[in-house]
This record gives sequence, C-alpha cells and structure tokens, in this order.
Amino acid sequence: MTYLGRFAPSPTGPLHAGSLVAALASWLDARAHGGRWLVRIEDVDAPRCVPGADRIILQQLADCGLLPDAPPLYQSQRSALYQRALDELVAHDLAYPCACSRRDIEAELLRLGHSKPRHGELVYPGTCREGLHGREPRAWRLRVNAGSVAWTDRRLGPQTQNVEQEVGDFVLRRADGCFAYQLAVVVDDGAQGISHIVRGADLADNTARQILLQGALSLPTPVYLHTPLVLGANGEKLSKQNGAQALDTSEPRAALKTAASALGLQVTGATVGDCLSVATAQWAALWKPAVKIGP
Ligand code: GLU
Repeated sequence: MTYLGRFAPSPTGPLHAGSLVAALASWLDARAHGGRWLVRIEDVDAPRCVPGADRIILQQLADCGLLPDAPPLYQSQRSALYQRALDELVAHDLAYPCACSRRDIEAELLRLGHSKPRHGELVYPGTCREGLHGREPRAWRLRVNAGSVAWTDRRLGPQTQNVEQEVGDFVLRRADGCFAYQLAVVVDDGAQGISHIVRGADLADNTARQILLQGALSLPTPVYLHTPLVLGANGEKLSKQNGAQALDTSEPRAALKTAASALGLQVTGATVGDCLSVATAQWAALWKPAVKIGP
C-alpha cells in the first residue's frame, strides 16, 4: 500500500492546542505506516484567511519536528482545478446553478413548514434544482440523490448520514465566487493521491458529503480517522472562532506531550525527535493496521 497522508490547516490564525493534536496524529499515522506526509494550506476561503498565518503555522509545525515530505501546496493557486471539476459535474448534470440567498432559503423552509435549522445550517430545499426560472445565478450546488452514505471511521466506527435529508444539495462554489471547502478538499485529496485522512472529529460530519463528491468525480475514497477534540476550560471545543490561544512552541516537547496525551499517548524524550519516535511506536501499537477499529 502507498500511504499518503496530509494535514490541511486553514490559515485563519496560528495553530492552537487542538490543531496540533490533528497535525500530530496525521504525522504519526503516516510515519507508523512508513508513508509520506504532506501539508496543504487551505486558503480557499479568502475572506477568512489572515495574511502571514500560513508561515506561522508552518513554523509551529517545524518547531515540533513535523516537517512535510514535499513543499506545502496552497489552495489559492488551484482555482483552475476546482473550476474544471465543477465543469465536469455540470456537464454530467450533477451540479446546477442556484439563485437563492440565505434569506430566500429561510423563507422557503418556513413556507414548507420546517422549524429552526439544525446546527445553524439550512437544509437546502431544492428550489433551483429544476432551473432558475429567470433568476440570476449566485452559487453552484451538487445534486444529492436520496439515500444514506455509510462509511467506517477507524476510531469512531461505522457512520451513516442521509445527506439529502440532513444537508440537501450543498454548495460547491459560493455566491462570492470562492470555491467551497467541500469541493476544494475532495479535488485536492484526489489530485494529490491522499490515501489516509486523519483530522479532528469536528470535521467528521463533512465526510459523507465528501464521499458523495468523490463518487461524482470518480475519485477513490480515502481511509478516515477522526481524532478526539480538545475541549477548553469552558467545555467547548477549542477553535480559532471561540478565541483559542495560539499554540506556544517555544517548548516543543511540552507542546508535543500535551497533544500526544489527548491521543492517549504518554510521551517523553530528551529531544523533539525522541518524543516523536516514542509517540510513533505507541501510535503504531494502537492504530496499525489501518483497518483496526478501536481501541
Ligand atoms: N481546512 C480544514 C480546517 O482547517 C481541514 C480540512 C480537512 O482536514 O479535511 O478545518
């Protein structure tokens, strides 16, 4: 098996303690499998990106000994690839233009008798599925068929989601022209040949959508492992949005030890390299072979 893993941070700020857990886990899994590990800077959502955050993130990773096996790839330089994928979906009638604003969608859901949206996300009611009826196109959406998507996460076990009912036809290119995370991540994982995805559990509920898109674009589905989330003192997950502190890498062994303990690993060592070797051996004992479900 050719193992190719990746860490794919959005440069919306420096890494925090939670993002190091995901970065470390993806690195350890690649090393434990004798595979390669890449970093992809997911700066496709330009309005949310902070200038210079990519360099800070790469430095934080380097401080912790997490060095990619190839120069990082930037999504902002890959629009042509995303457009080509969108064109392919449109040509096969798997994607369509949508004229609805958020307010239009809310009004339509209300008219259809739906109550408050789940998790703040609106299930698209399919208004533009059969055409724009003279309205101006704003975004592009994937046509989602009825039925559930089933997949197995190496840590979370069997998962299933009915994307049609829980999400609806989702956005591939937004009204502001930015390609959506779902499209960019699937196109890049496919183009780079990523075999294993190890990332935070907050992203687990994107997986079914990504599997649908992989199918629509005839791309293989990688193996998934979603790592435990790190909670802040208030019990909420650490995220840049709720003001998580930037990761301090002036003591990289301490940062690694904390991140490793969130993964159930007890790591010590005189150097960063020693810490990473110990962690790799422990990770391999827990998570290799990749098909093992548990622990
Ligand atoms: N760029 C995404 C984030 O930082 C992660 C994407 C992924 O790992 O699939 O939340």
